[in-house]
Amino acid sequence: MIDYDDRLISNGRDFVKRVIAPIASEMDEKEEFPFDAFRQMGEFGLFGVPYPEQYGGMGLDYMSFTGLIREIAKVCASTAMTALSHATLTCGPIFTHGGEQLKERFLLPLISGEKIGSFAMTEAESGSDVSSIGTRAKLSGDDYILNGSKMYITNANVADVAVVVASTSPQAGLLGLSLFVVEKGMPGFSATGRRERKLGMRASDTGELVFNDVRVPKENLIGGKNRGFKVLQQTLATARLGMAAIAIGISEGARDFSIDYAMQRKQQGKPLHRFQMIKSMLADMEMKISAADLLLKKSVWLRDQGKNFTKEAAEAKLFASEMAVEITKDAIQIHGAYGYCRDLPIERFFRDAKLTEIGDGTSEIQRLIIADEMIKARSHSRNNALAL
Ligand SMILES: Cc1cc2nc3c(=O)[nH]c(=O)nc-3n(C[C@H](O)[C@H](O)[C@H](O)COP(=O)(O)OP(=O)(O)OC[C@H]3O[C@@H](n4cnc5c(N)ncnc54)[C@H](O)[C@@H]3O)c2cc1C
Repeated sequence: MIDYDDRLISNGRDFVKRVIAPIASEMDEKEEFPFDAFRQMGEFGLFGVPYPEQYGGMGLDYMSFTGLIREIAKVCASTAMTALSHATLTCGPIFTHGGEQLKERFLLPLISGEKIGSFAMTEAESGSDVSSIGTRAKLSGDDYILNGSKMYITNANVADVAVVVASTSPQAGLLGLSLFVVEKGMPGFSATGRRERKLGMRASDTGELVFNDVRVPKENLIGGKNRGFKVLQQTLATARLGMAAIAIGISEGARDFSIDYAMQRKQQGKPLHRFQMIKSMLADMEMKISAADLLLKKSVWLRDQGKNFTKEAAEAKLFASEMAVEITKDAIQIHGAYGYCRDLPIERFFRDAKLTEIGDGTSEIQRLIIADEMIKARSHSRNNALAL
């Protein structure tokens, strides 16, 4: 499928209208996690869209999932981010690289929404540079002993299950990383309770996790010892598709408000859309959204076909996130003072959009990935030419 399924998207739109739209502004204002909406997203089946039915999923593809994420982000980017982190960053590596026992134990309750998941990679001293991760996991009998701490973790204070990135061979850098499933209640594992006070994405929980001699059974290792970097590359590339979908959803929400307002608001006796400078902003919004839509669909299609999508995911995420910041800024401009105030969600869209340039790899890191992939492809084709 190279486009969204109309019926699924229409059901998603109804769900968003009924469950998420009524609470979006209030949750942002109060900086509250939407527990009830989370449970209802689970009942709707959102978290299991790309996973097989045997784990409680819908057995569809990532195209369908990004289509739904986009619908949620049009109204509430925080909720879309909560869902993305849970369904892609937590469930994703368990499904793609976890053993059968791990999948059976964790996927069903995560996909149904009975349990909440988080993904813990970032630390105080380790952000873009994943090779500097300081959390350690040492084998002791049948368990790994985890020590360290994580920060800026989505769902940290509300999660029951965390997928944690730790170093099992510190001297090996990236090639010494491993992923573990850690459960709430394991002695020594806790959330500090600190909730980051953020510019945007305020209805999403962001916090810190601490690991103090946490005994994690060997069976909770995802993908094998020192195999974490490969799992991370795939997981983060997939999450970038979801983040691009969030950026596009925010942009579409801002565009829809802008066109309506430009048709309704009059100055100098005529509606705003008759002014060429306003028209120019509307046209740029539409053109950029169309371009981002194609980049996203191409990269998701590649993933769904089992092809390499590293460069394309970085392109979609980079383009869509920078676009979301530009479009939401212009949406405020079109609305004037009204757009700057909290009566409308435009200022919230603007605050939320900025995160898409940072989370799941900053714009600078996306540019590095794209350039590295270009160089890799060029060297490959030159070597092939030399071999002829
Ligand atoms: C709301 C929110 C939710 C988050 N959720 C999660 C989560 O669930 N799990 C998780 O693990 N993390 C999460 N993060 C962390 C996020 O992934 C990191 O913020 C991000 O990877 C960047 O790391 P950093 O903030 O440490 O910035 P740094 O890596 O310190 O970067 C600072 C600046 O330097 C630039 N820079 C860094 N390295 C290079 C380089 N090699 N070349 C050029 N420029 C460079 C960056 O692009 C950036 O502009 C979240 C962050 C936020 C804000």
